[in-house]
Amino acid sequence: MLKSKVVIVGAGYVGSTLAYNLIQRALVEEIVLIDINQAKAEGEVMDLSHSLPFARPVEIRVGGYEECNDATVVVITAGVAQKPGETRLDLASRNLAIYQQIIPAIIAGGTKAILLIATNPLDVMTYAAIRLSGLPPERVIGSGTLLDSSRLRFLLSRHCGVDPANVHAYILGEHGDSEVPIWSATHIAGMHLDEYCAICGRGCGPRVWEELFAKVRDAAYEIIARKGATYYAIGLALVRILTAILRDEHSLLTVSVLLNGAYGLRDVALSVPAIVGRQGVERVIPFPLTQEEEEKLHRSAAIIREVIVTLGLA
Ligand code: NAD
Repeated sequence: MLKSKVVIVGAGYVGSTLAYNLIQRALVEEIVLIDINQAKAEGEVMDLSHSLPFARPVEIRVGGYEECNDATVVVITAGVAQKPGETRLDLASRNLAIYQQIIPAIIAGGTKAILLIATNPLDVMTYAAIRLSGLPPERVIGSGTLLDSSRLRFLLSRHCGVDPANVHAYILGEHGDSEVPIWSATHIAGMHLDEYCAICGRGCGPRVWEELFAKVRDAAYEIIARKGATYYAIGLALVRILTAILRDEHSLLTVSVLLNGAYGLRDVALSVPAIVGRQGVERVIPFPLTQEEEEKLHRSAAIIREVIVTLGLA
């Protein structure tokens, strides 16, 4: 186990699921939960603590913002969640007001932590965290479309009858309705999707791929309509990013980062392939996109940017 401390701000569905995953993975030594609803954080810590006899040792407790001072990573899941039929962008101003309270409290003690953002609308909140914290942008990472990309990998794997580990698929742009599947970079077992489809022989093609993508794009709405929230897959997506940071893995992940010229985009946070390690975002990898993909990515950026400007953040 690595010597490290993760502070989770927001002990709701996503935050407490992440804490539970971290205990099972034995990835960190200390986990601290902070929530405006102190009783909720206390109840989660009590329940989580009782799982420790079945896990490897980890210190888990409720804390205050001073716990961020020596944290390795601060994960922010605090906020209002989507209600049925509500888009992620609808949440923007409500969650910005929450970030205006919590970001100054997180950085007050001069923390060296990486900030990992999970609150929706993800890209707007990532941008807000960068601006409100004044931290170097490489130290602020949004979970972005890592979850969406994993959903696409899962659906392609089921459809094609192969292990998700053999499927490489990337969704870029907004973690939301304008996200963009990058078919030009989608591979199964080293073959481009076109080539794999030809070998498979079931006659699938772009129409079927787009149907699968529509299920990815609408997944949160479908899940929220049935059970009110999504938390298991995002919980493990956050563990994936935390692992890349804590173990300095230099992993290529589709995460939301501040762009300053890459993909022809500036002063906006959205998901692109980025190398993530102990220092945060090490570099953005420019995939060679088709013209159509690039246009869709720019449209997605414009949608996020409009909200950022409307909120007075840029
Ligand atoms: P939730 O309502 O269960 O939990 C949110 C928690 O934040 C609550 O416990 C609440 O008390 C706390 N909170 C609110 N204001 C606070 C403040 N000022 N200070 C500290 N804590 C505060 O919601 P959830 O289902 O856990 O979702 C949390 C966020 O994560 C939402 O914005 C949701 O849309 C988002 N989300 C993102 C992804 C993703 O892929 N990035 C996936 C699922 C959910």
